[in-house]
Amino acid sequence: MDSESQSHGPKHGLGLHWKILIGLAVGAVAGILCNRFLRGIDGKPVEQLKFFADNVAYPLGEIFLRLIFMVVVPLVFCALTLGVAEIGDVRRLGRLGGRTLIMTLLFSTASVLIGLALANTLQPGKAVSAEATAMLRERFASQANEKISKAREAKTPIQTIVEIIPRNPLQEAVGALDGSSPGSGMLGVMFFSLCFGIALTIIPPERSRPVIDVLQGIYDAVMIIIGAAMRFAPIGVAALIFSITAVLGLQFFVALSGYVIAVLAGLSIHMFIVYSLAIFFIAGRSPVAFFRDILEVMLTAFGTSSSNATLPTALRVVEDKLHLDRKVSHFVLTIGSTANQNGTALYEGMTVLFLAQVFGVNLDWYQQFTVVILSILAGVGTAGVPGGSLPLVVLVLQTINVPPEGIALIMGVDRLLDMSRTTVNVVGDIAVAACVDRWERTSG
Ligand code: ASP
Repeated sequence: MDSESQSHGPKHGLGLHWKILIGLAVGAVAGILCNRFLRGIDGKPVEQLKFFADNVAYPLGEIFLRLIFMVVVPLVFCALTLGVAEIGDVRRLGRLGGRTLIMTLLFSTASVLIGLALANTLQPGKAVSAEATAMLRERFASQANEKISKAREAKTPIQTIVEIIPRNPLQEAVGALDGSSPGSGMLGVMFFSLCFGIALTIIPPERSRPVIDVLQGIYDAVMIIIGAAMRFAPIGVAALIFSITAVLGLQFFVALSGYVIAVLAGLSIHMFIVYSLAIFFIAGRSPVAFFRDILEVMLTAFGTSSSNATLPTALRVVEDKLHLDRKVSHFVLTIGSTANQNGTALYEGMTVLFLAQVFGVNLDWYQQFTVVILSILAGVGTAGVPGGSLPLVVLVLQTINVPPEGIALIMGVDRLLDMSRTTVNVVGDIAVAACVDRWERTSG
């Protein structure tokens, strides 16, 4: 596969990651400036700006995201089935799965503990004024209600585990990206792919080979489509970020600056300290080189706010730049794009504590422990799509008796936090893959 020609553009041109970075900067600055200066006599942003954001910028961004989302389900199925079939030995697969699980749990627990420690020491919820609370609640009430009704459909823990096994994988696949599946969505698709891949290793090679060849052909074709869509990424991310900043401006960030800074600090600590330590001590690599090599993946995650949409770029970059074993990276990255979301887990824990502080609900250690466990589980159960974790935040709030409508408070700043936590989620998947890869190489 000629990955260079697929997504880096002309060989001597500016690298795609730089173009994405420029797109992000241009979109954000243009949006903030338009919001600030295109105002009517009533002091509010002019109607035409909202019209442009909703009818030109947002659709452009949506077209980019949809071009990628349209191939995510076949990609997940092919990448995971091929990954498992190539491993070829159920015992090795079990060992790989066990190691992936250990790293995922370690990273998730560390991230939630960092989040809780920061929320308890910085207490960002205490700094939000009553006027700001009222203003935010009113402004985002309808969006909050939408998330609350989604959370109502939530299931018991036992049901959640049972539903990892899909009754009908096609039905799960249909709703995997918008949360409308009857069961566990993408996790169900992954379970089916795992079983299918294992079964392929058991049947005689003359039967499995043609199936594997077809899946490889589909995988290659999907990567071509993604490569083409990614050329559009700089414009797509510029449009997406413009459509948000032009409408919302910076006022919500000012009102919630303590919370936003605390979450960004937590995410940075996890990404640059915890991951760097693991990359150095477990994966045996230089953290600086690691982050430099995966810059394109980080910017794609930041621009799209979606682990699933970033999966194709992640698969390509770890192979081309980090030279990880394809069998390991396909398995770990594909599962991780839905099931390993450290940034989301950290964000959920901090947000729940923040809202509890705003509403004056004191959480004892037992309730905080509940938040830790639920946030870790939420990191596994969250769909890797923009805003995927919000219904789960509602669920945790309900569990510990904080008014779920409180989610309205954070809606105005959620996109930036979503972009940031998605970046941490995706880097976490690559960090797990690098650690497991080393582990596999050294212990055989
Ligand atoms: N947008 C996140 C992701 O795709 C999920 C979330 O936290 O909302 O990884």
